[in-house]
Amino acid sequence: MSDLRELYQEVIAEHNKSPRNFRKVEGANRKAEGFNPLCGDRLTVYMRVNDQDLIEDVSFEGTGCAISVASASLMTQMLKGKAVAEAERLFTTFHEVVTQDGGEPDLENLGKLAVLAGVREFPSRVKCATLSWHTMHAAVAGEGQVTTE
Ligand code: ZN
Repeated sequence: MSDLRELYQEVIAEHNKSPRNFRKVEGANRKAEGFNPLCGDRLTVYMRVNDQDLIEDVSFEGTGCAISVASASLMTQMLKGKAVAEAERLFTTFHEVVTQDGGEPDLENLGKLAVLAGVREFPSRVKCATLSWHTMHAAVAGEGQVTTE
C-alpha cells in the first residue's frame, strides 16, 4: 500500500506542476466559480455542452493547493466527451469515496480519480479534492458561484 500511496502522491504532484486543460474553453456555455475558504482554493470551471448534453470541452483556471489543482486537472481529463449525467454520477461516486469513513472505497469505478481516494484520511483536504467537482456541478446547474462552506 505504501508504494501505491507514493505513486498517488507522484501523480498529484505531477498534475499540480503541469495541470491539464488549464485554460478557458472557447465558446464556453457553462461556467462557475468555486471557492474553498478553508484552504483558499479558488477555481473557475468552463464547459461547452452540446445539444445532446455531451461535454465537448471542459477546462479550469485558478489557484489553489496541490490537491485542488490536481483534482481539477484529473476531472477535466475525465469529463471531456462524457454526458452531463455521467459527469454527475462520477461526482456522486467520487464524493462518496472521499467522504465515507467506513468500508473500502469503490476504486474500480473511479479510474484515475483513485489517486485522490487517500484524502479520505484527511478530512480537511476533502474540500480541496471536491472543489472542482462542486464547481462543475454548479456550472451544469446554471449557478454561477459555489463555496464549500
Ligand atoms: Zn486546498
